[in-house]
Amino acid sequence: MLRAIERAALGEPLSDENARTIVDSADVFADAIAEAARASRDRSFGRVVTYSPKVFLPLTNLCRNRCDYCSFRRSPGEAGDWTMTPPEVSAQINRARDLGCAEALFCLGDKPEKAFSTYRRKLASLGHSSTVDYLDWGARTALARGLLPHTNAGLLTDSEMLRLREVNVSLGLMLESSSPRLCEPGMPHHRAPDKRPDRRLAMIEGAGRLRIPFTTGILMGIGETRRERIDSLLAIRALHRAFRHIQEVIVQPFRAVPGVPMHRAPEPDDVEVMLTIAMARLILDDDVSLQAPPNLNPDATGKLLGAGLNDFGGISPLTPDYINPRHPWPHIDVLAEGCARAGFTLRPRASIYDRFVDRDEFLDPSLRVPTRAVQARLATASVAP
Ligand code: SF4
Repeated sequence: MLRAIERAALGEPLSDENARTIVDSADVFADAIAEAARASRDRSFGRVVTYSPKVFLPLTNLCRNRCDYCSFRRSPGEAGDWTMTPPEVSAQINRARDLGCAEALFCLGDKPEKAFSTYRRKLASLGHSSTVDYLDWGARTALARGLLPHTNAGLLTDSEMLRLREVNVSLGLMLESSSPRLCEPGMPHHRAPDKRPDRRLAMIEGAGRLRIPFTTGILMGIGETRRERIDSLLAIRALHRAFRHIQEVIVQPFRAVPGVPMHRAPEPDDVEVMLTIAMARLILDDDVSLQAPPNLNPDATGKLLGAGLNDFGGISPLTPDYINPRHPWPHIDVLAEGCARAGFTLRPRASIYDRFVDRDEFLDPSLRVPTRAVQARLATASVAP
């Protein structure tokens, strides 16, 4: 196994079989896995680590699913339910632009109009026939203010993705896990029909056919085994190899919150998170960025970079992480200092990776000029130190 890890460090792809076998002995080979992951990251991304300065726009927290770890979702009438109004969306976009943000992240509950008639009436009162119609308006508003939209609205059909492709530089959907076991009774996705892995993999495949730069990832620590984690990463790799459309993969650790069924479930520790990141780096192809949220891994900048990470994802100077509101974003200057201490330079990036911008098939022609403008703006943005 050591030879397979060493070959992976030199750029030879890890086979599916080797990936599964290595993770079974990961405790023995942990140091070698991390060392190989660092070499792989350095070869592809150098000593630059990126983040996306964003505004988080949770259009609605109504959702038809009930994932056992989620504190974001609400039903209509439940305390804390919301659907943002157009003036609220516009105001946040304006503030974000003034603060130097580059990404408008639209992230919301899954299929609320299928479940809730009150939400359908709310949409109609706002002048929209569907959530996608409202998202289209929001994305156009963001583009008009110089922000690049990236939408994660749960499961979408091909026609919905095609429409959003016209006004988004990239789309996203966390695979979370390819294990159908997590949908069985007593497991966290039992009451979440949209978390069926076959449906999520089908959407990610659809995005590939439609040539949409795509963000996905895994949620670790929700009851899956190490092997199942590796299977999820291998499934993502297989889809990327079919369509070359995965721009980044997120490794997101479960974090417990009060008031949800999994509030007492153990969280994955640093050792497990870093091992998963390192294995992800060795499994994913060199052109796929690897990301972990710094707010869910506080005070771990050096460890994350030591595991082969090259991207911290979206960080907002304006809005909280609505999905994990108990975990504030780090201050960019503090994060930059941590990167510098580890020998890395922190830089802002756009919500579409550079390598997709020049490829005609991956970006709607109408989005090329605004994308170039954001790239130029970020190129001159300064990040201390
Ligand atoms: S995690 Fe997403 S799909 Fe699951 S309940 Fe929360 S908002 Fe809905």
